[in-house]
Amino acid sequence: YAQLIHDRLTLEISRGCTRGCRFCQAGIIYRPVRERSPGNIIDLSNRALESTGFGEVSLLSLSSGDYSYIAPLLKELMDTHAQKKVSVSLPSLRIDSIDPAWFDEIKRVRKTGFTLAPEAGTDRLRQVINKTLTNEEIINTAKEVYRAGWNLIKLYFMVGLPGETEDDLYGIIDLAKKVAACAVSKARKEVLNVSVAAFVPKSHTPFMWEPQIGYEESIRRINVIRNGLRGPLIRVKWNQPEISWLEGMFSRGDRRLLYPLIRAWKKGARFDAWSECLNMGLWKESFMECEIDTSLYLHCSRSPGEPLPWGHISSGVAAEFFEREYKNALEEISTHDCRKGCLACGVCDFNEIRPRISSDWSAPEKKSDETAHHDYTGQKSRFRFTFTKTGPARYISHLELIKLLTRAFRRTGLNIVYSEGFHPMPKFSFACALPVGTKSLCETADVELYGPVLPEQVMEKLNSCLPEGVRVMDIQDITGISKGMAIRESRYHMGISGIDIDRELLNEFINTASFEVIKRSGKGDKKVDARKLVKSISFISHDTIELVTHHTEGPELKPASIIGEIFRIAPEDLHRIKVLKVEQVTG
Ligand code: SF4
Repeated sequence: YAQLIHDRLTLEISRGCTRGCRFCQAGIIYRPVRERSPGNIIDLSNRALESTGFGEVSLLSLSSGDYSYIAPLLKELMDTHAQKKVSVSLPSLRIDSIDPAWFDEIKRVRKTGFTLAPEAGTDRLRQVINKTLTNEEIINTAKEVYRAGWNLIKLYFMVGLPGETEDDLYGIIDLAKKVAACAVSKARKEVLNVSVAAFVPKSHTPFMWEPQIGYEESIRRINVIRNGLRGPLIRVKWNQPEISWLEGMFSRGDRRLLYPLIRAWKKGARFDAWSECLNMGLWKESFMECEIDTSLYLHCSRSPGEPLPWGHISSGVAAEFFEREYKNALEEISTHDCRKGCLACGVCDFNEIRPRISSDWSAPEKKSDETAHHDYTGQKSRFRFTFTKTGPARYISHLELIKLLTRAFRRTGLNIVYSEGFHPMPKFSFACALPVGTKSLCETADVELYGPVLPEQVMEKLNSCLPEGVRVMDIQDITGISKGMAIRESRYHMGISGIDIDRELLNEFINTASFEVIKRSGKGDKKVDARKLVKSISFISHDTIELVTHHTEGPELKPASIIGEIFRIAPEDLHRIKVLKVEQVTG
């Protein structure tokens, strides 16, 4: 229910890639290409969306645009899910596989991000890495993307590719500027994100014999690009060269790296891919103490025939294929896609192991009641429901709660009404936003749904799809009532067990005319009169305070903050106050 990093339904539509980019390890180890059948993808997406309530389907593969039925599949998925505002994204599109007709399908719900990966700045270097796109193709695609309504494109590049020269670095700058110039928006705001990473020559690729560029050289090359692309339209992001250095060590090293790995862990290395956690000094120390010469792994050229640390692992691809491809790279000769003819890489036996390409599929015919979409165009109903937010659900933030309810409604099969525009939002409105950590027995929200539906049905279906702690307790049909909700008062029970407080301070507070509290936030500090916010406050047991607050136009205070200020509770003890909202008065 809660928001995840990859917060979408990810469906692998094919495995393996036939393009043969020479830097790509996945393109080698997942050979041969095997496409999932379109019928299977549609069936899986229907079932998975029904049980998860996700709002986005991502069609994953190493090169989604190469999938044989990508256009009809995209159309079919959008026809089925667009009404429910489920978008479809294609995360790995090769520029030369993009058909502008897809843009209209993708943006039917909302425009998901658009990322293009030229990898190198010049046609020549792309020939070396066997990503045979031209700058002209990249610029033309960018024009189409901007013209179709996208305001921001992301471009991925690598520095330190074999055979890279200064001209190739300046080629990245030149290409990025030309792409940014294609943006339709005339506002002086960001239209292009350029992402740069230092190239790590991976095992099991034709570049495995190549050295990796040094750390200082990576910084220099990244800085050339940063300096060349200053300005409001383009933002340059880069992977920390330290991370690439470490990635290179473990991608290209052998079993001896076990010792520095354990040593670094013992010294405290954790979550090193997060820049704020990475401590390179600690890694360098560990390599030194284990007498590992890092330059041997990273910066030495190797030659075909030489024993390699990964030589005992077979990807199924023959050594001759790697050698041939390496030679072609050095001679700037491209190799064609193996869909157009087998290149004898050695993986397939053409019996059990062979490329599996989908064929003979046509989109299923729609039944008349499916095409009518009457549930989305007819009557709308509006409901006001009261629900709990207790147990683990009290740690769900207000924004996450909106996502949670949207997902729960999708799982019920009830159709929520969405706002119009580029980023449609479900039509929910909440009486108030509860602070994270506060439990409540009486949260209230309004929702609009399509179709005639009884309140009891909504409540029953919704409760069957809600997580622990969130439960609808009451629901009313408020169709036709345009007046929104306004909360006048909230009643809280505040558990203070284990917190040492001076009860006399309560009388002081009750008898004072005003009680100023500084409310701190990212937007600055504000003075708030807590006395005016409190309608009543009293002990209802030896360790429970009942607090009733007014809701006003101005800034408000969290109930725990009010209690904390009245009883001068140390900020680090505030989390020990157990807050339960037991009632709210609307009107
Ligand atoms: S053996 Fe031929 S068809 Fe199979 S993956 Fe290799 S190049 Fe492609």
